[in-house]
Amino acid sequence: MAERERDYSFEALVEVCGLVLAEVTDMERGRVNKALKELREVHPDDYLLADLIYERAKLYRAVYPDASLTPQALAGNWSQLPEQHHTWQKAQVVATNVHAPDDGCETCGGDKLIVYSQRPAGMDGVPGTIHTYEEFAPCPDCNPGANVGFWRHDGSRFNAPDPSQVRRRIEG
Ligand SMILES: [Zn+2]
Repeated sequence: MAERERDYSFEALVEVCGLVLAEVTDMERGRVNKALKELREVHPDDYLLADLIYERAKLYRAVYPDASLTPQALAGNWSQLPEQHHTWQKAQVVATNVHAPDDGCETCGGDKLIVYSQRPAGMDGVPGTIHTYEEFAPCPDCNPGANVGFWRHDGSRFNAPDPSQVRRRIEG
């Protein structure tokens, strides 16, 4: 008899949704399996899917801090999550200084933010595509006091760099 493979993506989905494996009811298991069935259609590799579940659960938590993360919520927003997170992240930077006058700043063109760096998102489950995520920082000239922090899509914490550091970066 072949050794049963570990079901990494099942365990991942159980964990990110806060279910306790030892106490999972049939109804809960059913919901997890139903969501997994759909996810496996787009990501057949169990190991890769498990990784993506952890990754996108973090995106979901950042974008929807007040919603509970259920298997259906994750599967129901799955392919949009990177984009939703990107939009959300940009809004965090802008929202820190909504009352600042639009003074036609030349550095940022009035956006109040600049692209601070671009980082590859790593494997995204779609063969042949590597997405690049932009990181935004408050404009050092018109928005230097913005206090920005958010969770990166890989789960690490982003804190706005010091304005002088941003200036050095954009001036190359
Ligand atoms: Zn500016």
